[in-house]
Amino acid sequence: LWLRDPLEVANDDHMLRNARVLVTGGVGFIGFHLAATLVQLGNDVVVLDNFNSYYDVRLKEARAHKLFGHGVRVVNGDICDFRLLEKLFEQHGFTHVAHLAAQAGVRYSVNHPHDYIRSNVDCFVNILEELRTKPEVKLVYASSSSVYGKDATIPFTEKECSDKPTNVYGATKRMNELLAHSYHHLYNISATGLRFFTVFGPWGRPDMAPFIFTERVMRGDTIDVYHTADGEEMRRDFTYVDDIVDGIVRSLHHGAGYDVFNLGRGHPTSVPQFIEMIESATGKPARRNDMEAHAAELPETYADVSHAADVLDYSPKMATDEGVNAFVGWYKWYSEQGMFRPFPRADYYFPGGPA
Ligand code: NAD
Repeated sequence: LWLRDPLEVANDDHMLRNARVLVTGGVGFIGFHLAATLVQLGNDVVVLDNFNSYYDVRLKEARAHKLFGHGVRVVNGDICDFRLLEKLFEQHGFTHVAHLAAQAGVRYSVNHPHDYIRSNVDCFVNILEELRTKPEVKLVYASSSSVYGKDATIPFTEKECSDKPTNVYGATKRMNELLAHSYHHLYNISATGLRFFTVFGPWGRPDMAPFIFTERVMRGDTIDVYHTADGEEMRRDFTYVDDIVDGIVRSLHHGAGYDVFNLGRGHPTSVPQFIEMIESATGKPARRNDMEAHAAELPETYADVSHAADVLDYSPKMATDEGVNAFVGWYKWYSEQGMFRPFPRADYYFPGGPA
């Protein structure tokens, strides 16, 4: 339910098959969709996630429950536990790693910088250290549009990244790219960084605007709509999760050497336009409260995706309004299913490592 049609996935070209893939952060929003798709394509998939409580853990448990139904092994553990990583590699002989585990969120990073340094920098090095002697394993890791600074030319191109991120989250994602480069240079590891642009869709994150806006519109609560200090509308290159997953799978399949790609829609939407799409999908009016954006936020994000198009044949397909319809459909189902009451506790993931 609310995942890509298995038949459509199975008929896709350019896709990874018969691989053994570790997906870190795999009960997170993007990792969940990725793990489900990879297993439908015929790969062996192990998820490693610490089920942290940055947002409602019941949503992560619900995702884990679905993944289990698809035949994915889910390990409840931390990437900071290097012995667990070693054990998983020994047991499963991974051919590919999709590293998505991270402390996400721009605004949260303003007051919680150490959470970002721990998971996104310190423990990212655990992944690199594990791969140091395994140049044949293809690593794809999540970077972000947040690496771009306010001075970056619109649309953002990979080479123009100015090393002036506006927040700690973006700084840690840029450090991922720099560290990956060092390990590639020193040990010839294969590492591809993917700069995702505001990802949305079913099973999406409760801390992100699409979820918060939809929840508030459905309840008749007021939405805080941020604009720039000059009163300009904010714009985001909202990208549907299936397109992002398609880009990740293509990168895993391709992955050779060192590279960084923008994965976005390539068509930004203003935040007020996005809210109008939610109004139309829910059939309810939004009540707005205009606010000035925090200095950590970029006024606009806009991906130039030509590098990913050239090398990976990446071509995002989902129109933003259709994506909003799909998200709102899922949101209604999910809130009725049990967002406000606990899902049954999962008993199929294994604290401390695989059984
Ligand atoms: P998410 O928070 O839903 O998923 C991240 C998962 O990682 C969570 O389930 C969390 O429990 C897990 N995790 C965090 N620290 C961990 C640790 N130390 N050990 C093991 N697991 C840990 O976020 P998401 O939206 O799915 O994002 C996935 C990746 O993509 C992240 O790296 C994020 O920074 C990046 N990204 C996301 C977006 C977006 O719009 N969603 C945009 C740019 C980049």
